[in-house]
Amino acid sequence: MKTILTGIRANSVLTLGNYLGALLPMVRLSNKHSKDFNVNIFVPDLHSIISEIDGDLQKNIIRTLKNYLAAGLVVNENVHIYRQSFVPAHSELCWILNCVASMGEMGRMTQYKEKSEGKASANVGIFDYPVLMAADILLYSAEYVPLGEDQFQHIELTRNLAERFNNKFGEVFTVPVETAKQVEFMGVEKPIRVRDLVNPEKKMSKSTASENSKIMLDDAPEKAAKKIMSATTDSFGEVKFDFDTRPGISNLLFIKSLLTDTPLSEVVAEWEGETRYGELKKSVADDVSNALSSFQAKMAEISDEDVLELFKKGEIYANDVAGQKLLDVQKAVGLR
Ligand code: ATP
Ligand code: MG
Repeated sequence: MKTILTGIRANSVLTLGNYLGALLPMVRLSNKHSKDFNVNIFVPDLHSIISEIDGDLQKNIIRTLKNYLAAGLVVNENVHIYRQSFVPAHSELCWILNCVASMGEMGRMTQYKEKSEGKASANVGIFDYPVLMAADILLYSAEYVPLGEDQFQHIELTRNLAERFNNKFGEVFTVPVETAKQVEFMGVEKPIRVRDLVNPEKKMSKSTASENSKIMLDDAPEKAAKKIMSATTDSFGEVKFDFDTRPGISNLLFIKSLLTDTPLSEVVAEWEGETRYGELKKSVADDVSNALSSFQAKMAEISDEDVLELFKKGEIYANDVAGQKLLDVQKAVGLR
Protein backbone atom coordinates (compact mmCIF):
# COMPACT_ATOMS: atom_id res chain seq x y z
CA MET A 1 0.00 0.00 0.00
CA LYS A 2 1.31 3.46 -0.89
CA THR A 3 1.71 6.12 1.76
CA ILE A 4 0.45 9.68 2.05
CA LEU A 5 2.22 11.73 4.73
CA THR A 6 1.63 15.13 6.20
CA GLY A 7 2.19 17.20 9.32
CA ILE A 8 1.79 20.67 10.75
CA ARG A 9 4.18 22.21 13.25
CA ALA A 10 2.86 22.76 16.75
CA ASN A 11 4.63 26.01 17.64
CA SER A 12 1.36 27.89 18.09
CA VAL A 13 -2.33 27.91 17.38
CA LEU A 14 -2.91 27.48 13.63
CA THR A 15 -4.02 30.19 11.24
CA LEU A 16 -6.81 30.26 8.73
CA GLY A 17 -4.05 29.78 6.13
CA ASN A 18 -2.96 26.52 7.75
CA TYR A 19 -6.60 25.46 7.95
CA LEU A 20 -7.46 26.18 4.33
CA GLY A 21 -4.09 25.31 2.82
CA ALA A 22 -3.13 22.26 4.82
CA LEU A 23 -5.66 20.97 7.31
CA LEU A 24 -8.81 20.88 5.22
CA PRO A 25 -7.24 19.56 2.00
CA MET A 26 -5.41 16.91 3.99
CA VAL A 27 -8.51 15.81 5.84
CA ARG A 28 -10.44 15.56 2.56
CA LEU A 29 -7.62 13.63 0.96
CA SER A 30 -7.32 11.25 3.88
CA ASN A 31 -11.02 10.57 4.04
CA LYS A 32 -11.02 9.92 0.31
CA HIS A 33 -8.00 7.60 0.20
CA SER A 34 -7.61 5.92 3.58
CA LYS A 35 -9.17 2.69 2.34
CA ASP A 36 -6.36 2.19 -0.21
CA PHE A 37 -3.42 4.15 1.25
CA ASN A 38 -1.56 4.40 4.50
CA VAL A 39 -2.19 7.90 5.74
CA ASN A 40 0.48 9.16 8.14
CA ILE A 41 -0.47 12.28 10.03
CA PHE A 42 2.24 13.31 12.42
CA VAL A 43 2.94 16.24 14.68
CA PRO A 44 6.45 17.47 13.84
CA ASP A 45 7.24 18.51 17.38
CA LEU A 46 10.99 18.65 16.70
CA HIS A 47 10.30 21.09 13.87
CA SER A 48 8.20 23.15 16.26
CA ILE A 49 11.13 24.15 18.43
CA ILE A 50 13.08 25.86 15.66
CA SER A 51 10.85 28.86 16.33
CA GLU A 52 9.62 30.55 19.47
CA ILE A 53 6.95 28.45 21.16
CA ASP A 54 3.80 30.46 21.66
CA GLY A 55 2.29 29.01 24.82
CA ASP A 56 2.83 25.51 26.11
CA LEU A 57 4.38 23.06 23.64
CA GLN A 58 2.64 20.03 25.15
CA LYS A 59 -0.74 21.71 24.84
CA ASN A 60 0.06 22.84 21.30
CA ILE A 61 0.97 19.30 20.27
CA ILE A 62 -2.33 17.91 21.48
CA ARG A 63 -4.26 20.81 20.02
CA THR A 64 -2.59 20.38 16.64
CA LEU A 65 -4.00 16.89 16.37
CA LYS A 66 -7.40 17.97 17.64
CA ASN A 67 -7.45 20.36 14.70
CA TYR A 68 -7.46 17.46 12.26
CA LEU A 69 -10.25 15.72 14.12
CA ALA A 70 -12.30 18.92 14.35
CA ALA A 71 -11.75 19.46 10.64
CA GLY A 72 -13.45 16.11 10.04
CA LEU A 73 -10.66 13.53 9.88
CA VAL A 74 -12.03 9.98 9.89
CA VAL A 75 -9.60 7.62 11.64
CA ASN A 76 -9.54 4.00 10.46
CA GLU A 77 -6.87 1.27 10.69
CA ASN A 78 -4.85 2.81 7.82
CA VAL A 79 -4.64 6.26 9.40
CA HIS A 80 -1.53 6.51 11.57
CA ILE A 81 -1.17 9.38 14.00
CA TYR A 82 2.10 9.99 15.83
CA ARG A 83 4.47 12.52 17.36
CA GLN A 84 7.80 12.90 15.59
CA SER A 85 9.91 12.96 18.76
CA PHE A 86 8.42 9.64 19.86
CA VAL A 87 10.05 8.01 16.84
CA PRO A 88 13.82 8.46 17.30
CA ALA A 89 14.56 7.22 13.77
CA HIS A 90 13.64 10.70 12.47
CA SER A 91 16.60 12.34 14.21
CA GLU A 92 18.91 9.46 13.35
CA LEU A 93 18.12 9.59 9.65
CA CYS A 94 18.35 13.37 9.69
CA TRP A 95 21.98 13.08 10.75
CA ILE A 96 22.81 10.61 8.01
CA LEU A 97 21.09 12.80 5.41
CA ASN A 98 22.96 15.84 6.75
CA CYS A 99 26.03 14.12 5.41
CA VAL A 100 24.41 13.79 1.98
CA ALA A 101 23.04 17.34 1.71
CA SER A 102 25.29 20.21 0.63
CA MET A 103 25.61 23.63 2.30
CA GLY A 104 24.97 25.26 -1.10
CA GLU A 105 21.60 23.66 -1.74
CA MET A 106 20.50 24.20 1.86
CA GLY A 107 21.42 27.89 1.68
CA ARG A 108 19.10 28.28 -1.32
CA MET A 109 16.00 27.32 0.66
CA THR A 110 13.57 30.23 0.59
CA GLN A 111 12.04 29.34 3.95
CA TYR A 112 15.46 29.44 5.57
CA LYS A 113 16.18 32.83 4.06
CA GLU A 114 12.82 34.17 5.18
CA LYS A 115 12.97 32.75 8.67
CA SER A 116 16.53 33.87 9.37
CA GLU A 117 16.17 37.31 7.78
CA GLY A 118 16.89 40.13 10.16
CA LYS A 119 17.99 37.79 12.94
CA ALA A 120 21.41 38.51 14.39
CA SER A 121 21.84 34.83 15.05
CA ALA A 122 19.40 32.28 13.63
CA ASN A 123 19.52 28.80 15.16
CA VAL A 124 21.00 25.92 13.16
CA GLY A 125 17.62 24.15 13.27
CA ILE A 126 16.19 26.83 10.98
CA PHE A 127 18.90 26.00 8.45
CA ASP A 128 18.70 22.25 8.82
CA TYR A 129 15.01 21.49 9.25
CA PRO A 130 14.43 20.65 5.57
CA VAL A 131 16.78 17.70 6.05
CA LEU A 132 14.77 16.52 9.04
CA MET A 133 11.72 16.92 6.85
CA ALA A 134 13.32 14.71 4.20
CA ALA A 135 13.87 12.09 6.91
CA ASP A 136 10.22 12.41 8.00
CA ILE A 137 9.13 11.57 4.47
CA LEU A 138 11.71 8.98 3.42
CA LEU A 139 11.41 6.82 6.56
CA TYR A 140 7.89 5.88 5.53
CA SER A 141 8.50 5.66 1.76
CA ALA A 142 5.78 8.27 1.36
CA GLU A 143 5.07 9.10 -2.27
CA TYR A 144 2.48 11.76 -1.61
CA VAL A 145 3.20 14.64 0.72
CA PRO A 146 0.31 17.08 0.52
CA LEU A 147 1.60 20.40 1.86
CA GLY A 148 1.26 24.06 1.00
CA GLU A 149 3.23 25.74 -1.76
CA ASP A 150 5.80 27.14 0.69
CA GLN A 151 6.99 23.59 1.30
CA PHE A 152 7.43 22.53 -2.34
CA GLN A 153 11.10 23.44 -2.40
CA HIS A 154 11.60 21.06 0.51
CA ILE A 155 9.84 18.24 -1.33
CA GLU A 156 12.20 18.81 -4.26
CA LEU A 157 15.12 18.74 -1.82
CA THR A 158 13.82 15.45 -0.43
CA ARG A 159 13.66 14.02 -3.94
CA ASN A 160 17.23 15.15 -4.63
CA LEU A 161 18.59 13.73 -1.39
CA ALA A 162 16.80 10.41 -1.95
CA GLU A 163 18.12 10.10 -5.50
CA ARG A 164 21.64 11.07 -4.46
CA PHE A 165 21.60 8.54 -1.65
CA ASN A 166 20.17 5.80 -3.89
CA ASN A 167 22.80 6.47 -6.56
CA LYS A 168 25.58 6.15 -4.05
CA PHE A 169 24.32 3.40 -1.74
CA GLY A 170 21.67 1.45 -3.70
CA GLU A 171 17.90 1.70 -4.01
CA VAL A 172 16.97 2.24 -0.38
CA PHE A 173 14.54 5.15 -0.62
CA THR A 174 11.26 5.59 -2.44
CA VAL A 175 11.44 8.98 -4.16
CA PRO A 176 8.29 11.07 -3.53
CA VAL A 177 6.45 12.20 -6.66
CA GLU A 178 7.33 15.60 -8.13
CA THR A 179 5.46 18.65 -6.86
CA ALA A 180 3.30 19.13 -9.98
CA LYS A 181 1.94 15.63 -9.42
CA GLN A 182 1.47 16.35 -5.71
CA VAL A 183 -0.79 19.24 -6.66
CA GLU A 184 -2.70 17.01 -9.06
CA PHE A 185 -3.10 14.40 -6.33
CA MET A 186 -4.40 17.02 -3.91
CA GLY A 187 -7.14 17.74 -6.44
CA VAL A 188 -6.73 21.51 -6.32
CA GLU A 189 -6.56 23.81 -9.33
CA LYS A 190 -3.44 25.48 -8.01
CA PRO A 191 -1.46 25.42 -4.78
CA ILE A 192 -3.33 27.16 -1.98
CA ARG A 193 -1.60 30.21 -0.57
CA VAL A 194 -3.69 32.38 1.72
CA ARG A 195 -2.18 35.83 2.07
CA ASP A 196 -1.28 37.99 5.03
CA LEU A 197 -4.20 40.38 5.68
CA VAL A 198 -1.97 43.43 6.25
CA ASN A 199 0.78 42.67 3.71
CA PRO A 200 -1.05 40.62 1.07
CA GLU A 201 2.15 40.21 -0.96
CA LYS A 202 3.23 37.74 1.70
CA LYS A 203 1.58 34.52 2.81
CA MET A 204 -0.31 34.37 6.10
CA SER A 205 2.01 32.77 8.70
CA LYS A 206 1.41 31.84 12.28
CA SER A 207 4.81 33.22 13.31
CA THR A 208 4.12 36.69 11.88
CA ALA A 209 4.24 39.19 14.74
CA SER A 210 1.36 41.39 13.59
CA GLU A 211 -1.96 40.22 15.07
CA ASN A 212 -4.07 41.77 12.32
CA SER A 213 -2.10 39.93 9.64
CA LYS A 214 -3.49 36.55 10.52
CA ILE A 215 -6.66 34.88 11.66
CA MET A 216 -6.04 32.32 14.36
CA LEU A 217 -8.33 29.32 14.69
CA ASP A 218 -9.05 30.25 18.31
CA ASP A 219 -9.84 33.89 17.59
CA ALA A 220 -13.27 34.90 18.84
CA PRO A 221 -15.43 34.95 15.68
CA GLU A 222 -16.18 38.69 16.12
CA LYS A 223 -12.48 39.47 16.45
CA ALA A 224 -11.73 37.52 13.26
CA ALA A 225 -14.52 39.37 11.46
CA LYS A 226 -12.93 42.68 12.47
CA LYS A 227 -9.58 41.59 11.06
CA ILE A 228 -11.24 40.88 7.71
CA MET A 229 -13.00 44.27 7.80
CA SER A 230 -9.64 45.99 8.29
CA ALA A 231 -7.72 43.90 5.73
CA THR A 232 -5.49 45.83 3.31
CA THR A 233 -7.06 46.21 -0.13
CA ASP A 234 -6.16 48.75 -2.84
CA SER A 235 -7.25 52.07 -4.27
CA PHE A 236 -8.60 50.80 -7.62
CA GLY A 237 -12.13 50.91 -6.20
CA GLU A 238 -13.41 47.96 -8.20
CA VAL A 239 -13.30 44.27 -7.32
CA LYS A 240 -11.14 42.27 -9.68
CA PHE A 241 -9.34 38.96 -9.18
CA ASP A 242 -5.63 39.34 -9.84
CA PHE A 243 -3.10 38.31 -7.23
CA ASP A 244 -0.32 40.27 -8.96
CA THR A 245 -1.93 43.69 -8.99
CA ARG A 246 -4.68 43.32 -6.35
CA PRO A 247 -3.47 40.78 -3.84
CA GLY A 248 -5.64 42.03 -0.95
CA ILE A 249 -9.00 41.82 -2.74
CA SER A 250 -7.99 38.61 -4.51
CA ASN A 251 -7.13 37.08 -1.15
CA LEU A 252 -10.62 37.86 0.16
CA LEU A 253 -12.25 36.27 -2.89
CA PHE A 254 -9.94 33.29 -2.52
CA ILE A 255 -10.77 32.85 1.18
CA LYS A 256 -14.48 33.06 0.37
CA SER A 257 -14.21 30.40 -2.30
CA LEU A 258 -12.31 28.02 -0.01
CA LEU A 259 -14.50 28.55 3.04
CA THR A 260 -17.77 28.14 1.22
CA ASP A 261 -16.44 25.36 -1.02
CA THR A 262 -17.54 27.34 -4.09
CA PRO A 263 -15.42 27.33 -7.28
CA LEU A 264 -13.29 30.47 -7.44
CA SER A 265 -14.69 31.31 -10.88
CA GLU A 266 -18.19 31.47 -9.39
CA VAL A 267 -17.13 33.71 -6.52
CA VAL A 268 -15.25 35.99 -8.90
CA ALA A 269 -18.21 36.16 -11.30
CA GLU A 270 -20.46 37.17 -8.41
CA TRP A 271 -18.23 39.93 -7.05
CA GLU A 272 -16.23 41.28 -9.97
CA GLY A 273 -17.10 44.88 -10.73
CA GLU A 274 -18.45 45.57 -7.21
CA THR A 275 -17.29 49.03 -6.20
CA ARG A 276 -18.04 48.84 -2.48
CA TYR A 277 -15.22 46.84 -0.96
CA GLY A 278 -17.08 46.99 2.36
CA GLU A 279 -19.81 44.71 0.98
CA LEU A 280 -17.33 42.05 0.00
CA LYS A 281 -15.48 42.39 3.29
CA LYS A 282 -18.69 42.04 5.27
CA SER A 283 -19.63 38.92 3.38
CA VAL A 284 -16.19 37.32 3.85
CA ALA A 285 -16.18 38.36 7.51
CA ASP A 286 -19.47 36.45 7.94
CA ASP A 287 -18.02 33.38 6.22
CA VAL A 288 -14.97 33.47 8.47
CA SER A 289 -16.90 34.00 11.66
CA ASN A 290 -19.37 31.17 10.83
CA ALA A 291 -16.54 28.79 9.99
CA LEU A 292 -14.70 29.60 13.22
CA SER A 293 -17.80 29.16 15.38
CA SER A 294 -18.51 25.72 14.06
CA PHE A 295 -14.83 24.67 14.15
CA GLN A 296 -14.42 25.84 17.74
CA ALA A 297 -17.53 23.96 18.85
CA LYS A 298 -16.08 20.76 17.41
CA MET A 299 -12.69 21.36 19.06
CA ALA A 300 -14.39 21.59 22.45
CA GLU A 301 -15.89 18.13 22.03
CA ILE A 302 -12.54 16.31 21.68
CA SER A 303 -10.70 15.28 24.84
CA ASP A 304 -6.94 15.14 25.44
CA GLU A 305 -7.32 11.46 26.33
CA ASP A 306 -8.80 10.66 22.90
CA VAL A 307 -5.78 12.28 21.28
CA LEU A 308 -3.20 10.55 23.50
CA GLU A 309 -4.82 7.21 22.75
CA LEU A 310 -4.42 7.78 19.00
CA PHE A 311 -0.80 8.87 19.43
CA LYS A 312 0.15 5.79 21.42
CA LYS A 313 -1.32 3.43 18.87
CA GLY A 314 0.24 5.26 15.94
CA GLU A 315 3.66 5.44 17.55
CA ILE A 316 3.89 1.66 17.72
CA TYR A 317 3.25 1.50 13.99
CA ALA A 318 5.58 4.39 13.20
CA ASN A 319 8.51 3.01 15.21
CA ASP A 320 8.09 -0.30 13.44
CA VAL A 321 8.09 1.10 9.89
CA ALA A 322 10.67 3.83 10.49
CA GLY A 323 12.96 1.53 12.48
CA GLN A 324 13.04 -0.95 9.62
CA LYS A 325 13.87 1.73 7.05
CA LEU A 326 16.56 3.21 9.28
CA LEU A 327 18.18 -0.20 9.57
CA ASP A 328 18.18 -0.52 5.75
CA VAL A 329 19.91 2.86 5.56
CA GLN A 330 22.44 2.00 8.25
CA LYS A 331 23.29 -1.23 6.46
CA ALA A 332 23.60 0.53 3.08
CA VAL A 333 26.00 3.09 4.52
CA GLY A 334 27.99 0.48 6.43
CA LEU A 335 27.01 1.52 9.95
CA ARG A 336 25.53 -1.95 10.50
P1 ATP B 1 5.42 29.43 10.51
O1 ATP B 1 5.30 30.92 10.35
O2 ATP B 1 5.67 29.01 11.91
O3 ATP B 1 6.32 28.80 9.50
P2 ATP B 1 3.19 28.61 8.92
O4 ATP B 1 1.87 29.29 9.07
O5 ATP B 1 4.00 28.90 7.72
O6 ATP B 1 3.96 28.89 10.26
P3 ATP B 1 3.86 25.81 8.86
O7 ATP B 1 3.85 25.04 10.13
O8 ATP B 1 5.17 26.24 8.27
O9 ATP B 1 2.90 27.07 9.06
O10 ATP B 1 3.08 24.99 7.76
C1 ATP B 1 2.00 24.15 8.07
C2 ATP B 1 1.24 23.83 6.80
O11 ATP B 1 0.42 24.94 6.45
C3 ATP B 1 2.11 23.56 5.59
O12 ATP B 1 1.52 22.54 4.82
C4 ATP B 1 2.07 24.85 4.85
O13 ATP B 1 2.29 24.67 3.47
C5 ATP B 1 0.66 25.32 5.11
N1 ATP B 1 0.55 26.76 5.05
C6 ATP B 1 1.22 27.63 5.82
N2 ATP B 1 0.84 28.89 5.55
C7 ATP B 1 -0.10 28.80 4.57
C8 ATP B 1 -0.86 29.76 3.86
N3 ATP B 1 -0.74 31.05 4.11
N4 ATP B 1 -1.72 29.33 2.91
C9 ATP B 1 -1.84 28.01 2.66
N5 ATP B 1 -1.16 27.05 3.29
C10 ATP B 1 -0.29 27.43 4.25
MG1 MG C 1 5.97 27.99 7.48
